[in-house]
Amino acid sequence: MPIASVNPATGEILQTFEPLDAAGIEQRLARAEAAFHGHRSTPFTARAELMHRAADLLDRDQETVARTMTEEMGKPLTAARAEAAKCAKAMRWYADNAEALLADEHPAQADVTDSGATRAYVRYRPMGPVLAVMPWNFPFWQVIRFAAPALMAGNVGLLKHASNVPRTALAIEELFQRAGFPEGCFQTLLIGSDAVEDVIRDRRVAAVTLTGSEPAGRAVAAAAADEVKKAVLELGGSDPYVVLPSADLEAAVATAVRARVQNNGQSCIAAKRFIVHTDVYDRFTSAFTEAMRALRIGDPMDEGTDVGPLASRQGRDDLEELVEDARTHGARVECGGDRPMGWDTGWFYEPTVLTGVTPAMRIHQEETFGPVATVYRVADLDEALALANDTPFGLSSNVWTTDRDEQERFVRDIQAGGVFFNGMTASHPALPFGGVKRSGFGRELSGHGIREFCNVTTVWIG
Ligand code: NAP
Repeated sequence: MPIASVNPATGEILQTFEPLDAAGIEQRLARAEAAFHGHRSTPFTARAELMHRAADLLDRDQETVARTMTEEMGKPLTAARAEAAKCAKAMRWYADNAEALLADEHPAQADVTDSGATRAYVRYRPMGPVLAVMPWNFPFWQVIRFAAPALMAGNVGLLKHASNVPRTALAIEELFQRAGFPEGCFQTLLIGSDAVEDVIRDRRVAAVTLTGSEPAGRAVAAAAADEVKKAVLELGGSDPYVVLPSADLEAAVATAVRARVQNNGQSCIAAKRFIVHTDVYDRFTSAFTEAMRALRIGDPMDEGTDVGPLASRQGRDDLEELVEDARTHGARVECGGDRPMGWDTGWFYEPTVLTGVTPAMRIHQEETFGPVATVYRVADLDEALALANDTPFGLSSNVWTTDRDEQERFVRDIQAGGVFFNGMTASHPALPFGGVKRSGFGRELSGHGIREFCNVTTVWIG
């Protein structure tokens, strides 16, 4: 697969790139190792100063960065601007909080006296160069949520970005360089996925993190396991969006639309399966269908566009196949279900609502990576919970209820890395992010995220 920027709204090839050869990869690995020796022992205040400078530069260059993202992967420009702003916020959060998050931990002396220690504590030390294999859907955010904590902890980063967002990948490398991070602290490797395994196996690479699909995660984690290296996996999701009778229905509908079509429907934490109590099913489904039908499809560069193209032809074709399979097996298409008229160039797909979905359909178990929603009717909370958990994935979940007991039941029994009540799932620097089951393992963001790539060192003094 070539490394190329292709505008998904038009299919036009913007730029192609030669992948790095073996010598180019070697040069960058050597640089990363050398950079780690210096960076690991710099004080937090110095790292924070550089991170703040990078955040300021990103704010200043927001428009250019946003346009690069939109041109390469088709998200609406307004969303691309918001993504850049969110990255700057996360960079500042880690700049301001990393030292406290990684402060030495001192167990109570009474608890360790019988170990013979006069003193014992825990120090979080950086691990070394970390390889980040990243997807195109939030091409800046996915990288920054790895890079900000990693660099603040004293690690150095190597980025293998998705092959369709090379311009964004190079812009991120350049951002850290311009901020003044020493050479080698953050480097982009323009390589195909076939070159990833050798990089993981290189002795200089300490660990790997991957955000992407399950097959990619499996390949990366297998190589890491074989080398006995730490891996974090952030994989796909098929998040449930449960609506129970106590919900504010108007808010639940408006949020449902945003939760489904954000990023043209290509978000791991998008709500994908709408599970609605029978008492409110008819009202919810007709209002939701109406709102999905009313969305404006268009050029992602236009401010008024709600839904742009999918990022690749393959992505559009995969989505179309899932809808056709459901339709063939008897699902009802409430709206959409086709390529939009008048958008023949580019990889557009209509916002779509399906009902009558059964376990015999692929869409019941597979992730829909585009603006397609399935709506299910359930009789009660038990059925809602069982259906919510009836998926190989377990990233996040959304539940609309004001009843405390119902909320507590979901907190106890939902099989997911998060549960958001009366709102939609969104990541935040201070809250951990990650999944269970086939959505992966490990956490990003918050203190949990920054400690993933630290050596938890026990210090015992006799
Ligand atoms: P993908 O094909 O898995 O690509 C993600 C990254 O992995 C790319 O850099 C890709 O490189 C690389 N890759 C692919 N196969 C590989 C292999 N065998 N060995 C090593 N690297 C490999 O994912 P995608 O389809 O572009 O992205 C969508 C998926 O990502 C969805 O399932 C979505 O839910 C998931 N996702 C999860 C999260 C989360 O936080 N949990 C966030 C965003 C997206 P190439 O581009 O060169 O192939």
